[in-house]
Amino acid sequence: MAIIKRKDPQKPMFSLTLKFSLLFFAVMLASAAIAVITLLFVMGPIISQNTENRVTSLVASMKLLDQKNLYSTSEIISICNVDIADVTTLPEKSVERYNVLIDAAEQNCYIEREGRLFPKLTGYTVIGGEYLKIVPTNFDNVYWIATFVTIITMLLSILLGSLMTIFVSHRILRPVKNLSNATALVARGNFKVRVPESKDKEYNQLINNFNRMAEELSGIETLRGDFISNVSHEFKTPLASIQGFAKLLQDDTLSVEERHDYTQIIINETGRLSKLTSDILRLSKLENQSTISNKKRFSIDEQIRKILLVLEPEWTKKNINLEIELDTVYYFGNEELMAQIWQNIINNAIKFTPEGGNIGVRLFANEKNITAKITDDGPSIPPEVADKIFVKFYQGDNSRKTEGNGLGLALVKRIIDLCNGNIYVENRYDGGVCFTVELPYVIGDMM
Ligand code: ADP
Repeated sequence: MAIIKRKDPQKPMFSLTLKFSLLFFAVMLASAAIAVITLLFVMGPIISQNTENRVTSLVASMKLLDQKNLYSTSEIISICNVDIADVTTLPEKSVERYNVLIDAAEQNCYIEREGRLFPKLTGYTVIGGEYLKIVPTNFDNVYWIATFVTIITMLLSILLGSLMTIFVSHRILRPVKNLSNATALVARGNFKVRVPESKDKEYNQLINNFNRMAEELSGIETLRGDFISNVSHEFKTPLASIQGFAKLLQDDTLSVEERHDYTQIIINETGRLSKLTSDILRLSKLENQSTISNKKRFSIDEQIRKILLVLEPEWTKKNINLEIELDTVYYFGNEELMAQIWQNIINNAIKFTPEGGNIGVRLFANEKNITAKITDDGPSIPPEVADKIFVKFYQGDNSRKTEGNGLGLALVKRIIDLCNGNIYVENRYDGGVCFTVELPYVIGDMM
């Protein structure tokens, strides 16, 4: 025999909350990167151009004053430099390097850039024959402040956003967690568990379905428990009786009649057990099938007549008067199962009808349905019991418990359900009950 090894379920590495947070983190990081790139490549050149303009206009002002020949170079520097740049005189040795460049810049100003992303701007010019170096004071600062503010803003939004993501995903995933815990309990056999409704309607359908499933399972579990206790109870009584009478039979002093009576009781009880077993088997088979098999066309009125004939010893023994009114009705179905319906209902009618009473059997049909009505003048059925009589093992009349097992009408109901038919019981106004069976014709099966 092949042994199928059950794979241990792999533990997931990340919880959904962590995944949400990581996703958020990645989104924030991407937007931070976009902001920094924008700052560097768009704002950077703008700021740099702006600073360059300020340096050139500063140089232009200085040149204008220089042309008037009224001020010395240091006076021009102090007049024009309004804290926008550090202007210093270049030492003699570095003059040569810029000489050519400044000339190339038409005697105005040469701007030197160091670095690509954060270019450091320095201006060079000649005023009053002196070479000057101009370093804009707040140029670096603007970059720094912008970058610093961007990074701090990003860090703060990542922190706040992550906290919010954890909180929100925890809140969103709470119903899923509840459901997961509840399913774990159901798997351990606790069918009483229910999940509270969620405020989100998307989850509510799932929760409602889960709760319905748990309810159904709990119902099935109760039914199973009831079924086992009913079956064992139904078996116990005849078995105890058989055991008791078998023990009595061991007594050698018993008369022939006594021996005969006791043996008869044992035979009756074994018959009851055998009927009980076959009824249980038949019912469980019917409960496990969803359609009727072995169908054929047959005459229902003929079938009922035959059953009444088989049961003749029972109804003649009780002097029962039969009123039979059977139209010719053909049906396409399982003959054996159909016989079970009439047999069980008519048997009950005979069982519950008093000596000399009446039983009526009527059968008629229209283009849609076949209807059979079986009436008797036995005891009526209280309305609160009417539904229960179709439940397995239900026996209304305690005094007749030994005459049946409470499975007859459950079998009848199951067969009728499989035929998509209907059965109901009504109390008759002049006493007794009327069982009505309605069977729909299946399209194409009509004669
Ligand atoms: P049982 O083997 O006890 O007859 P059934 O399933 O056939 O089991 O019937 C269930 C119960 O329905 C019976 O115990 C009885 O209380 C009630 N019942 C069935 N048929 C009749 C009837 N013709 N008149 C009165 N009560 C009935």
